[in-house]
Amino acid sequence: MSLLRVRRSAALLAALPLLLSLPFAGCASRTSCAVPAGACVGRATVEPLNLSDAKAAVHAYLDSGAYDRELAAAAAEARAWIERRADARRPGERLAVVLDIDETVLSNVAHIVEQDFGYVPAVWDAWVDRAEAPAIEPMRELYAAARARGVAILFLTGRKAPRDRAGTVENLRRAGMGEYEALRFAEAGDAHLRTSAARKAAARAAWEAEGWTIIANIGDQDSDLAGGHAERAFKLPNPLYRIP
Ligand SMILES: [Mg+2]
Repeated sequence: MSLLRVRRSAALLAALPLLLSLPFAGCASRTSCAVPAGACVGRATVEPLNLSDAKAAVHAYLDSGAYDRELAAAAAEARAWIERRADARRPGERLAVVLDIDETVLSNVAHIVEQDFGYVPAVWDAWVDRAEAPAIEPMRELYAAARARGVAILFLTGRKAPRDRAGTVENLRRAGMGEYEALRFAEAGDAHLRTSAARKAAARAAWEAEGWTIIANIGDQDSDLAGGHAERAFKLPNPLYRIP
């Protein structure tokens, strides 16, 4: 059965939820099948990206230098805006830049690759405590350029307080980014905000209410940038994980 015919089969489409719930053990291969005819073909149409292929693609993206180039390009664009905007500061404005931390100013890429892209909470916690994540250099330079123009740095991270506070403070210091106006973690009191996007938007709104003009918001996740409360938002690449 061709892919096109599968797509045209309303009955098969209606059965997809059931087919997806069946164990793969029912199929010796895509063409030899213990479940009803067409089921394996139908299943093949929804088979997700193979994990080994996905890992290979990420390795290629990292190893080719494309990741570093795209990071540097995004950071350069953000830095140029920050410098232009700071130079056009209006009297009385308290300018600030909101920066995410992981994969925005600190790189965990080597650690995550070393874990074969796995995430084990205890291993991650130990990594945070070692405070060894290197700076993402173009972003450290952006941080320095902003501060040189009197633009405040407001860090807004998904790392958790109190657990991650000491390791994060030390890591930022070692990475040359130990001076900032605020460092806000995810805390127990944020539990009513169900997503990172909602928590971060609320934090930026609170900073605005305190009188900060957030001229740039920079992060590696769409959820870092959703919800406004910044004059401009800049998205850095991250092929490793996604946070809603
Ligand atoms: Mg991040």
